[in-house]
This record gives sequence, structure tokens and C-alpha cells, in this order.
Amino acid sequence: MTNEVAPLADLGRMRVRGVDLVRVELPLVTPIRTALGVIAARDALLVRVRGTGGQEGWGECAAEAAPGYWHEWTAGCEEVLRRFLVPQLEGAEVGAGDVPSVRGWPMASAAVQCAVLDALCRRAGVALATWLGGRRSHVDATLTVGIGDDRAVGPYRFVKRKAAPGRVPVIGADDPPTVLDANGSFTARTVDELLAAGAWYVEQPLPADDLVGHAALGTAATIALDESIRSAGDVRTAAALGACRIVVLKPGRLGGLLATRAAHDAAVTAGLQAKVGGMWDTAIGRAAALAVASLPGCSLPADLSGSDRYFDRDVVAEPPTVDAEGRLRVPAGPGLGIDVVL
Ligand code: MG
Repeated sequence: MTNEVAPLADLGRMRVRGVDLVRVELPLVTPIRTALGVIAARDALLVRVRGTGGQEGWGECAAEAAPGYWHEWTAGCEEVLRRFLVPQLEGAEVGAGDVPSVRGWPMASAAVQCAVLDALCRRAGVALATWLGGRRSHVDATLTVGIGDDRAVGPYRFVKRKAAPGRVPVIGADDPPTVLDANGSFTARTVDELLAAGAWYVEQPLPADDLVGHAALGTAATIALDESIRSAGDVRTAAALGACRIVVLKPGRLGGLLATRAAHDAAVTAGLQAKVGGMWDTAIGRAAALAVASLPGCSLPADLSGSDRYFDRDVVAEPPTVDAEGRLRVPAGPGLGIDVVL
């Protein structure tokens, strides 16, 4: 199939009757260690938008409890939502293209946009994935394994391992294709250890702002950029510099599903491969990410796994799980295609 995607259809407008901010804490089945520290629970901030016509939609803020991976954090996003975004939304008439946002707070803004898009797509009876231009019914999943996590890989056919200087996982000849994600923890002086590890590809070896440094790594290993990619413009810059061959698209970091679609289109135009990246999402954020993963340019396995790998319980009736072939199903029902149960 061609990677060209059609313009987005008009979903009309809705008047917002109310917006609810919901905090849910989901303990992780196994605490996960990254180059940035240990994460033991998901402190999720959810947004529900209710329309005057009875429609409702959900979004999830991707921020973590503390800044680290990214400058936004959950309580800060909640404050931004309560003080600046909710007042603009309540009573307003909004369409897909003019959902309010706050500069510098893409994760808070993305949650609101997702909730509005979910509500509009539900009303139109169209799956958000389909509306966004998605074409896949299923996507390959990836299991993210933290440093020191020795659990079995199960049905997953692709694995991502976290790596840090002096802690680069050994990849065995029989291991599934393995991505090493350094979260920007290496320097030009230490990166050779990572590049020599035999990874399928290496994700964000150097700090986010060092596009020139990434370009200077050459082609010794295939580079994916994650934290470096905050916009479609960043995709174009990375491509022009030859800084990577793969971009990781995260709707929260990019500021919403529309900006993610734009970044996807920029990657396709530039000849870069794309994949969707996961945060510590509940089934709401995961459904939004799966919609992105179904886009034609997201040709690599999604950086998403089944909910049960992380949580004992989730916020929907039927949390996403991987099938026997290591795939996740793209929700096909209207909107995000999920039934939120809190
Ligand atoms: Mg990453």
C-alpha cells in the first residue's frame, strides 16, 4: 500500500457541556527501571469531555508523576488543565481543528484534543483510527523490558530493552529483534558500547537536542529518534541532517493526534520510517496510540504492549492484550473504541 494518507474528514462541531479531570493510580505489575529511575505505579490523569448533545469522549495525559523523561508532570498538567484549558472549553463550541491548547504543555493539551476527537468520532459513528487515516486492523506489539527485568517474553515477537552507559543488555543470537532505548543517556565518547551491541536499531542514544551529534554517528547502527521529535518540523530537520532513519511518534509529546498525523506525514514525505511510541498509558492512551500505529507510515512494530503486562486492572472493560501472534488489535468501534469503566 502507498503511504499517502487522505485529508481528514470534517466531523462538525460540538458544544461542550462539561469537562471532568479524573486521577487514577494503577500499580505496575513489576516496577520498571529506566536510565531515569524506577517507576512503580501509573498515576494517570484522564480527561472526559461531555457535549450538550449527550456525546462524551476521553483522553489521557501522558505525563509521568515527576519530570524526567519530559518536562511536564501529572500535577502540573492537572493545574494547566484546570486553570487554562477547562475554562476555555466549557460552554464553547469546538471542532477537531480548533481545540484549545497551551504552548509548552503538549501532553496536557493532547489529552483535551483526544477527548474532543473521541466524542466527535463517536457521534459520527467512525473509529478514530479510521478517521485519522489508519488502515491496519492489527499492529505488531513490542515488549519493553526494563533493566534487570528477566520475565519471559511470551508471544511478543519484538523486544525493546532499556540501556544506559555501563548497562547495555547482551542480545543473544536467538533473541527476537531487539531495540535498545538509551533515553539520551550516552555521549559521543561513550556511545560506541551501545552501537556495537547488535541491536535491530538504537533509540535516542544521545540527548534530545543533539541532532547534529546523531547525524555524526553515521550508519554504524540504525538510529531512531524519540525525545528529539516534538513536532513535524523536528521530523523535517532530523531528515535534512541525516540524524536518523526512524522517528518515534508519541501523541502526548507532539501535542495531540492531529500534530502526530502531521509528523507522520512529514516522515513519509522525508522517506523516514515511523513507529508509535508508548508511555505508561492506560487503555485510553493505548487506544489513541493504536490509532496512530494503524497509519500507513508506521511501518515498524508499535512500541506498545498488552495492558496486562503492566497493570492488574485497567480503566476499560476489556483491556488490550496481545494475540498469539504478538499483535494488538486496533479498536474498530466509534471514537477510541473503548468502554471506560472506572
Ligand atoms: Mg524511547
